[in-house]
Amino acid sequence: MDAQKVAGSSGAWFSEVSAVCPGQSFSLEIEKVLYHKRSLYQDVLVFQSKTYGRVLALDGMIQVTERDEFAYQEMLAHLPMFSHPSPHKVLIVGGGDGGILREVLKHEAVETVVQCEIDADVVSVSKEWLPFLSSSFQHPKLHLHIGDGFEFLKNHPAEFDVIITDSSDPIGPAESLFGEGYFQLLAQALRPHGLVALQGESVWLHLELIKSMTASCRKWFPVVEYAWSSVPSYPSGQIGYILCSSNHDTHFRRPLRHIEAPQLATWNLRYYDADVHAAAFVLPKFASENLSSS
Ligand code: SAM
Repeated sequence: MDAQKVAGSSGAWFSEVSAVCPGQSFSLEIEKVLYHKRSLYQDVLVFQSKTYGRVLALDGMIQVTERDEFAYQEMLAHLPMFSHPSPHKVLIVGGGDGGILREVLKHEAVETVVQCEIDADVVSVSKEWLPFLSSSFQHPKLHLHIGDGFEFLKNHPAEFDVIITDSSDPIGPAESLFGEGYFQLLAQALRPHGLVALQGESVWLHLELIKSMTASCRKWFPVVEYAWSSVPSYPSGQIGYILCSSNHDTHFRRPLRHIEAPQLATWNLRYYDADVHAAAFVLPKFASENLSSS
């Protein structure tokens, strides 16, 4: 397909123009459009960029790029996974590119991963065009369910040790995953001492949304924290992670487990380590003043 026809692009450049980041736009130069179709739920685009490798965009918003995806996947997966003493059963909501699944399966304690992704096309497109992310979809521990995460949770009380919501932004199919009703369902779907991690948007752009999300989470979880990391291809170059625990004694800043030395080489981590884990919870003043627990 001609790059000129790609939604949200001009010439051979892809530009994010969205109400999620009003008045600004991140652009990448397109080398080749590899896939572009509308699924049942959203516009799905994969292109080869000049400088960020392969890129997946949904409804005109970048979800992952080959160059920096590891920062987001490692942080959203390992911040909660290393904070739980024995994460046997894990639920991933969204995450259709497969990156969070890839990271979760590195933990030996994991016996079962259930993944609930609303859009089968994102999974199949990732299998075809994004093999560096989707390599784990054949894993025997995975039970993949195609459906809405909000509806799925209603029927799975007290089942999971860790639930990771790897959602797109709160416009479109993911809107229901940002409200208090969803946080209540998450709390109810956890086993005792269970943990939750949510995609937490950007403190530079979405502080009011993050404030309201963390306040709503505090109604259902005794421990709620916000961490952040750098991801250059996300709006403002930064993204956050909301961590919630049903256990009063959880200290997210101090991971309960560490990667044992012999495993380090095979894990192939490029962003996460124990120091990065602890540092991710140190927020700049304008954010910490707004997000500290009340
Ligand atoms: N890392 C990305 C980001 O923050 O930009 C998110 C990546 S992942 C591709 C997001 C996935 O959430 C998409 O595949 C989308 O189809 C899925 N999704 C959106 N709404 C959903 C819902 N209600 N239930 C389950 N999955 C949903």
